[in-house]
Amino acid sequence: MKRMTRGWVEVDLDALRANYETVRDRAEPRVGLLPMVKADGYGLGAERVVRALDPLGPWGYGVAAAAEGAELRRLGIDRPVLVFSPMAPAEFGIAAQAGLTACLSELDALDRWAAEASEDRPLDFHVEVDTGMGRAGFDWREAAEWGAAIEARVAGSSVRWTGVFTHFQGADAAMREPTTTQWSRFQHALEHLPDAADGRLVHAANSAAALRWPEFAVDLVRPGIYLYGGHPALDARDEMPAPRPVAAVRARISLIKDVPEGHTVGYGATYTADRPERWATVTIGYGDGLPLALGNRGSALVRGYRVPIIGRVSMDMTVVDLTDAPSAEVGDAVTVVGRDGGEEITVEQVAAHANTISYEVLTGLTARLPRIAVDGPAVGGRTDDG
Ligand SMILES: *Cc1c(COP(=O)(O)O)cnc(C)c1O
Repeated sequence: MKRMTRGWVEVDLDALRANYETVRDRAEPRVGLLPMVKADGYGLGAERVVRALDPLGPWGYGVAAAAEGAELRRLGIDRPVLVFSPMAPAEFGIAAQAGLTACLSELDALDRWAAEASEDRPLDFHVEVDTGMGRAGFDWREAAEWGAAIEARVAGSSVRWTGVFTHFQGADAAMREPTTTQWSRFQHALEHLPDAADGRLVHAANSAAALRWPEFAVDLVRPGIYLYGGHPALDARDEMPAPRPVAAVRARISLIKDVPEGHTVGYGATYTADRPERWATVTIGYGDGLPLALGNRGSALVRGYRVPIIGRVSMDMTVVDLTDAPSAEVGDAVTVVGRDGGEEITVEQVAAHANTISYEVLTGLTARLPRIAVDGPAVGGRTDDG
């Protein structure tokens, strides 16, 4: 508990596993799970996440960069690892070396991948179909053409075409229509692929789609944010169980001061006490990933009380008004994401205050905050390791 001195992230592995099981139970038993562990497991620590999920038997893992996949291999993971983002040229060699599965969006990339393969080192790839996301994938309208071209190139080579997938741009939205349209386009593409494409793994669903459209699962689902406790579709929250919160972000009170009316706080003096107030300086700032935008907008939990963040968030410090939590003391834990007593600040609330999304809040937590695995509910407010 020594590392809970200044600021830290608690990662509730029980909750992570429970969220995985919720996704799994939503799908038919034959559907495989492909947890997305890109960006260091959405900021919570890919190693810890993979070690917690691996005993549950996922089909494989998804990453965004060849180096992230190579890191999983160093941890001893030998399940399939898919690199979902189109790779920069220098990544192909790294991916091949680690025996990863490339996701391809164009024929030139197929040539680069094939150049890394040999009889001694056969390499797999999945093909992405662009049905409206636009950032990657072969065009859904031209499946007959590129399907035939891929078939021709892989014939007799050491690369194997083992999967086809698409990615939804709006599975989180209240309206279902953009996703059902993308699904139809994907079906159109699948129907126009050469016959030999039968038997390849087909997948489409991110967290939101896996929970809202179990019928779109086909062979694999690719949950990310839901595993990490982020709600994947707040505008469709009646269509799925809420995830269990996984991350809690906490820091310490390092200074308490009583200030007179008229005293100001922070860069730009954007907050002025309009009465005598009790303020606490907290050991976390934007250099830890606490969004600057929470200044004068966000709140924190101290001893189960919700207290406002006042003034601008600094790089290393944030000030809260303790007037409504007068029993607080130097050394108390301060929660900026998570539960304390009966109060909770969700990652979505922080994201809303900061005009962003839960994904950015989690992946924005910096290396300065040690990640600490806990099993079960968070450690709570008065924790003090001395
Ligand atoms: C990140 C990602 C996912 C997971 O999305 P969530 O919304 O976090 O569930 C799934 N598929 C692909 C291709 C991705 O890049």
